[in-house]
Amino acid sequence: MSDEKTRCTRCILPADYPNVSFDADGVCRVCREHDVRYGSIDWEARERTLGRILDRYRGRGLKYDCMVPFSGGKDSTFTLWTIKNRYGMNPLAFNFDNGFLDSDALSVVKKSCRKLGVDLYTYTPDTGLLNRVYRRALEQTGEFCSACVVLMPTAIFRAADIHGIRLIVAGFSDELEAPPRETSYMDRTCFWNIMKGGFSRKELKWDFFFPSWKRMFGVKQINLPDYIRWDLPMIYETLNRELDFGRSMASVRYDCLGTPHSSYLFSRRTGFGKYEYLYSNMVRAGVISREEALRIVAEREPKEPPEGFDDFLAGMGTDRSILDGIEKKSVFNFRTRPGLIRNIAIRIREMLP
Ligand SMILES: [Zn+2]
Repeated sequence: MSDEKTRCTRCILPADYPNVSFDADGVCRVCREHDVRYGSIDWEARERTLGRILDRYRGRGLKYDCMVPFSGGKDSTFTLWTIKNRYGMNPLAFNFDNGFLDSDALSVVKKSCRKLGVDLYTYTPDTGLLNRVYRRALEQTGEFCSACVVLMPTAIFRAADIHGIRLIVAGFSDELEAPPRETSYMDRTCFWNIMKGGFSRKELKWDFFFPSWKRMFGVKQINLPDYIRWDLPMIYETLNRELDFGRSMASVRYDCLGTPHSSYLFSRRTGFGKYEYLYSNMVRAGVISREEALRIVAEREPKEPPEGFDDFLAGMGTDRSILDGIEKKSVFNFRTRPGLIRNIAIRIREMLP
């Protein structure tokens, strides 16, 4: 890799990452924060807490004990397997198709549910509406992922609500997947400020807004990687043995078909790419080596528009002219929900038994 950038000596974050600083050994702030957060977790205690939470919800739903959002990737597949086979819950698997799932993942979804004996519920919103939302987000903010950041949790909540399910168990790993807070932010006030003018509130209500705080507070959501050690070699081994998963550590990747395009747009605005922070996360968590991450980033990080970029834009009903002035656009230009209200809402949901 002809890589001129100064990077963290442990992960691969570049010096142009926001608010990054390096210590005397060249280790970045994010790595140091990671060690504080994940260094001394008592996993046995966490697992006991998980057991207590699941006990509380087992046998309580109309039919299902909980719902597992299920994309067919390794994390959600392992979550579904664990909940069903290790903890004896009766989960509903929920597959949400935002139009960016690859067909491989969809076949894993069907096959795994069949093998596990789990009911599958799929929701595919009208792609015409979604494409208008993605286009509007791209035009206003220079990116489109924020639309899914709002859409996904809403769809997940709606699916649970419809089925009388009070517990959602997701496989989202904060350690591996969370975008840097310095570069992305989203809440529903901010989202509406981006969308208004292009949509009526009613058009977006079902798919992008929660019904009411009261109903929201009746559904608890947990992420399994917060409670059990997310040991990827063990996860792949289990899935291949139990569910004929057919993938290995070598194929570890991010599943959304939009990622190459969003990474390119991201680097146009910030100077560094999404793969740089995504694979930094993996290095930090010990999933892949630093050398391998650098190789993957060099291979995948698009400096030019990625293959299929024009078709991707055409799918949203637009073309490259939408990128005019993208360097100045950002979600941070739109008013957000006051931090205090947001924090109180998050606290209340976390306090659910
Ligand atoms: Zn680092």
